[in-house]
Amino acid sequence: MTSRRDPVALVLDRLEGVRKSGSGWIAKCPAHPDKSPSLSIREGERGVILKCWIGCTFPAIVDALGLRQSDLFYGALAAPQQRQHAFKAVLKACVSESIVVITSSRSGVMPEQDHDRLRTAALRLRAALTLDGLPGRREIEGVARYAALLLKGQALTEDEDDNLTGSVEWIGWLIADEHKLG
Ligand SMILES: [Zn+2]
Repeated sequence: MTSRRDPVALVLDRLEGVRKSGSGWIAKCPAHPDKSPSLSIREGERGVILKCWIGCTFPAIVDALGLRQSDLFYGALAAPQQRQHAFKAVLKACVSESIVVITSSRSGVMPEQDHDRLRTAALRLRAALTLDGLPGRREIEGVARYAALLLKGQALTEDEDDNLTGSVEWIGWLIADEHKLG
């Protein structure tokens, strides 16, 4: 991993004629032939704000700096890791809920209390699917579908039960393999 740099330092390093101005800076705009500094640089809430008084667009300025727009947002480098953590936590929860489904599938007639727990498991699995980009979606969807069948009082076939177990193993494998978490 490359060392993390402050986005504003990244920008200022690449500009000419940088001068402090109020709460930000001014510099020569790299996107047009600029004699007097017409670019204003400010630290916004989510990232660095660039404004050329001649009217160069943000993408044009970022391009002229040799940067990507994402370089100018705070936490651009930390984000993938946070995402991985979030995915891992959700997948772990999905495994717990899937075990409830497996147990229900094998226990035959369900007492009311187990029925409630299974309904909760199905809801939680469905909720996990709303997380954008979550790996293992197909498997989680499958488990949720089996939970729905069981809730209708339908027993799973041997194949379906195998699929169910396979899906949970796959999710467990995703958790163990950081590279699969995106
Ligand atoms: Zn400009």
